[in-house]
Amino acid sequence: MIPIVKPFLPKFEAYSARIEDIFERNYLTNNGPVLQELEQKLADYFKVPYLLLVSNGTLAIQVALMALEVKGKVITTPFSFAATSSTLSALSIDPIFSDIDRETLNLDPKAISTDALKSASAILPVHVYGNACDVKTLEALAQEHQLKVIYDAAHTFGAEYDGKPLLAYGDAATISLHATKIFHTVEGGAVAFKNKADYEKAKQLINFGFDANNMPNLVGINAKMSEIHAAMGLSLFEHVESITSHRAQLAAQYINNLKGHVSFPFFTETCKPNGAYAPIILNNEAELETLQAHFASLEIQTRRYFYPSLSLVECYKGAGETPIANDICSRVLCLPMYYELSFEQVDYICDTVIDFLKQYREL
Ligand SMILES: *Cc1c(COP(=O)(O)O)cnc(C)c1O
Repeated sequence: MIPIVKPFLPKFEAYSARIEDIFERNYLTNNGPVLQELEQKLADYFKVPYLLLVSNGTLAIQVALMALEVKGKVITTPFSFAATSSTLSALSIDPIFSDIDRETLNLDPKAISTDALKSASAILPVHVYGNACDVKTLEALAQEHQLKVIYDAAHTFGAEYDGKPLLAYGDAATISLHATKIFHTVEGGAVAFKNKADYEKAKQLINFGFDANNMPNLVGINAKMSEIHAAMGLSLFEHVESITSHRAQLAAQYINNLKGHVSFPFFTETCKPNGAYAPIILNNEAELETLQAHFASLEIQTRRYFYPSLSLVECYKGAGETPIANDICSRVLCLPMYYELSFEQVDYICDTVIDFLKQYREL
């Protein structure tokens, strides 16, 4: 069986040594030393001054929205994981869906309506598959209309734009450190802030709103990361370069083998890809479904990611028409991608696609 993802695990001994330390200290959570060490390492890695670790990537988005006091309506993309929009709705913020660019699959600044820009208080774009959004245009728009920009940068571990880690863009940017992502803490996430005041506020928000005098002066939540989780991150940290470079090579190999047969999201030239996913775009949904069934019969897992377009989901009805996102969602398929995957397996998966399409398209 070839799974769609396989979490990267450190050597058990390396992890257990850190757990032994934690047992000896018997300090398990609440801004402990392991968490602080990981926070510092990641802040340096992402080249951001203010980084906060939290318990998952969904709460990272929530904390960013709360810290920046975003209310009312927010412009976002329906071409994302459910958590992007559900976080807005959970805070009684209404998503306004705007369409994606057909090439990059990211929120298209040109497609955002003037009405939306006038009525929204923020933009929540997603750097889909680790591919940089049109950050310059988005930020110019945001400045013109006085909107906050929060990037759902869940996929961007190791990805850079213009030589700078993608997490360093926006008023805030969030990342997921879930087991299935490139780098993880089993469950976890992080928020990077541009401004110190927002960071200080978020630090209070993730701890029930308590201030330095232990007064719950803000309406807070509990989004703290434990020492046990942070220890996984530290154990993985020394493998970061080999994980991202191997995955980027696997992604390049997929594209090299499959070009001319399927299409791919177009990566902005100044964006350094991280091999977060291996998406292919088929001609139509019937072709996708038949290919996926064929893969399943060979015990190769694939995933329709993202599917469906969030603007077509019942609970977001009326939040915006997005024909391009709807079309892409109907025919994009992600192929297996994880550190242990070999180049031979990628060749095998690609040959399977090519042989299948040859027969399917002749019918
Ligand atoms: C994974 C993911 C999230 C949620 O992160 P969790 O850590 O699983 O809560 C949010 N947005 C996107 C785009 C994701 O891929």
